[in-house]
Amino acid sequence: MENDSCRLSNPARTFRLSAVALLLVSVILSGCLGRGAVLDPRATVRSVFDDERLRLTADYCRTHYGLDSYRLTEPEMVVVHYTAIPTLEESSRFFAPVTLDTVFRKDISSGGKVNLSAHYLVDRDGAVFQLAPDDVVCRHTIGFNYTAIGIENVGRNAADLTEAQASGTADLISRLVTRHPSIAYLIGHYQYRDSGLPHYRLFREDDPGYRLTVKVDPGPSFMARVRALLRERYGLVLQE
Ligand SMILES: [Zn+2]
Repeated sequence: MENDSCRLSNPARTFRLSAVALLLVSVILSGCLGRGAVLDPRATVRSVFDDERLRLTADYCRTHYGLDSYRLTEPEMVVVHYTAIPTLEESSRFFAPVTLDTVFRKDISSGGKVNLSAHYLVDRDGAVFQLAPDDVVCRHTIGFNYTAIGIENVGRNAADLTEAQASGTADLISRLVTRHPSIAYLIGHYQYRDSGLPHYRLFREDDPGYRLTVKVDPGPSFMARVRALLRERYGLVLQE
C-alpha cells in the first residue's frame, strides 16, 4: 500500500523536482542576464552567454541595427537552420566560444566580434537544447537577428535531417508562438534574402558594406515537413 501510493506520487514528485530545477536555472540565468530570462520548459539549458558575450552582442546590435541593447523583445519571426556539423557535441563546441572564429568565418568577420549562435539546438533525436534565452539577440541571420528566434538542427546537410528533428522543431515553434504572440513569420535560412516574401519587410542592416551570404539551410523539404506538422498538430500557419 505504501509502495503503491509512493509509485502514484512519483510522477507528481518528478514534476515538482523538474519545476524546482527549472526555477533554479531561471534564477541563475536571470542573475547573469538581468531579470526575466525567458526559457523553454521542455528544453535542456546549455547557455553560451556570459557578460562579455552580452556586451559584444550589444555592440553588434548598435552597429547593425542602431539599437542600444542586446535584448530581443517581442520577436516577430523564427528562422530554422542546420548546423552543417554532424553531432550535438561538435555543434555545441562551435557555438560555445564568445568570439567568432575569424579564420573559419572570414566572410563575415567584418560584421562584429561576437560568435554565431542560435537560441535553440535540436539534436538528431528531436531533443531540444537552449543556448540563449528567448529575449537575448543571437547572431544567426543577417538582417533579422534583432527580431528573430533561431533554431539550429544538428546535421551535415538537408538530406541528413531526421523526422524526429522536424517534429521537435515544430513542437518548439508552437511553444514559441504561445510564449510570443508577436511571432508572425517562419522561414528557412535559405529564404532570408528573398525580398518577394512577406518577412522581408523586417529586413534591417545599417552597415552598407556588410555582405549578405548565400544560404541553403535547412532546405525546402525540411521546411515543408515542419509547416505540415504545425498545421496538422496545432492548426498553426505562419507567413514566409
Ligand atoms: Zn543557417
